Amino acid sequence: MIGAMQDWPLLVSRLIEHARTNHGDREVVALAVEGGTVRSNWRTIADRAHRFGSALETLGIRHGDRVATLAWNTHRHVESWYAISGVGAVAHTINPRLFHEQIAYIANHAEDRILAFDLSFLAMVEKLAPELTTIEHYILLTDRAHMPANSSLDLLCYEDLVAAGDPDHAWAVIDENSPAGLCYTSGTTGNPKGVLYSHRSNVLHAMTAASGDCFAMGVNTSVLPIAPMFHANAWAIPYVAALTGAKLVLNGGNFDAPTLHKLIIDEGVTLSLAVPTVWLSVLQYLEKSGGNLGLLKRVAIGGSAVPRFMVEAFQRDYGVTVSHLWGMTEMSPLGTLGTLCPRVSAMDEAERIDHQLKQGRAVFGVEMKIVGEDHAELPRDGKAFGRLLVRGPWIVSRYFKGDGGDVLDRDGWFDTGDVATIDPNGYMQIVDRSKDVIKSGGEWISSIELENAAVGAPGVAEAAVIGIAHPKWDERPLLLVRQKDGASVSKESVLAYLDGKIAKWWTPDDVLVVDDLPHTATGKLLKTELRARYKDYKLPTA
Ligand code: ADP
Repeated sequence: MIGAMQDWPLLVSRLIEHARTNHGDREVVALAVEGGTVRSNWRTIADRAHRFGSALETLGIRHGDRVATLAWNTHRHVESWYAISGVGAVAHTINPRLFHEQIAYIANHAEDRILAFDLSFLAMVEKLAPELTTIEHYILLTDRAHMPANSSLDLLCYEDLVAAGDPDHAWAVIDENSPAGLCYTSGTTGNPKGVLYSHRSNVLHAMTAASGDCFAMGVNTSVLPIAPMFHANAWAIPYVAALTGAKLVLNGGNFDAPTLHKLIIDEGVTLSLAVPTVWLSVLQYLEKSGGNLGLLKRVAIGGSAVPRFMVEAFQRDYGVTVSHLWGMTEMSPLGTLGTLCPRVSAMDEAERIDHQLKQGRAVFGVEMKIVGEDHAELPRDGKAFGRLLVRGPWIVSRYFKGDGGDVLDRDGWFDTGDVATIDPNGYMQIVDRSKDVIKSGGEWISSIELENAAVGAPGVAEAAVIGIAHPKWDERPLLLVRQKDGASVSKESVLAYLDGKIAKWWTPDDVLVVDDLPHTATGKLLKTELRARYKDYKLPTA
């Protein structure tokens, strides 16, 4: 016997159709890469997505074909995203911050048939094109007036295609397990690997993401995803905004603090999402300019650990609640969120903040556990730490084309590559990436915890910790700090600050003040590069 309810495939196109029908005049506002602001709404976005979808079909795009975008968060990117998935093709969002060789590798590996890209990437795409072996059409995401007079590429103009598109176009009726999107991990080790999202996984993920203890979005939300669409689908916000009828505000590739601040104020943004480095620059800007954050109620911060001063500054100085979240490309990306449960809400402020610094509690749809070396589950006591495993309907089951072989264990668990604790209230805390943790005298030192402590030191803008080989202890921590403009930070000043804030034996064996720290294309510290730079470094204690 089976249940007697309707079979309504969970398709991404349902989201945009829902927004068109029920929230048609709710605004979508974008800073255009050509300059200026474009004010649109969900009805117009949906109509234009249909027209572009029909153009893709005319260009020969069929179910399962990959169509790539190289674009910032703009109205055109949202339209083309929905159009590509809507016709049954796969929206492959490429990260333009990757090295050129990686972009070529990814596009060729995905066998992308079309590349749609922003005007700002024209020179880059012209240079890359000879290496892109499968692209049949290049579409410039702009209007006729901004098309270049001459280009080495045979370019199609997005707005021309939209204007000529079929206004009566209908979305493909396909199985909900069909692929909808493709996103490659940034590949800090080896080649990037593709994560192929399905319609079903994206819709289920969006439904949970919208809920109260996640992003708590609704028709009254004005949301600004600063996380780019090529970084794990802008943490699903373009889907969740359509699902809830929220106002969607898009930064068009602007990441400077004054522009983001103005956007937050002008568009009445109530929720915004970004990695810590973005919020760091916004807070520093506010400290200087003395402004406030308008209607902003909540910031969701993830991708790297949130430092304590950031939670304190947002909540104490601006009345903005911090939701710490953890996830990964392989998880669509949502895994945990740091909403306060009643027991934690009742604690005093310092303890509450301790909990907010943890990566949070599993959302419905994500099962997690930590395991030791022998793969046996470890207790949820907030102390034991081990490899963090996850499973659920929006978690990768294998990489695109089977790269990397089997990635699930016998019981279907995916190893996140993170090392974590889980406390009795269910709060998971990342101790480190398994490859970044510092192994000292048979014990582990968390590089993340040391970094978070060090960024609180006066004058320190950013900190990175890596393990350096040590004859007695195996590895010992080396702390690298970048200082704020005009500050004068020294080894002594940082060590004096850390004294009493960390376990004595965690104290870095050396502190170097450096001019810059390398980052990945998604804004994380590039530890592989740091380890290479300092591979011959001799600690004063060695
Ligand atoms: P990429 O490696 O492409 O930057 P991901 O965003 O998929 O992309 O990276 C996922 C990893 O980022 C996680 O496995 C974890 O190590 C780290 N991460 C994500 N969110 C947090 C967080 N809130 N705190 C600490 N680490 C985080």
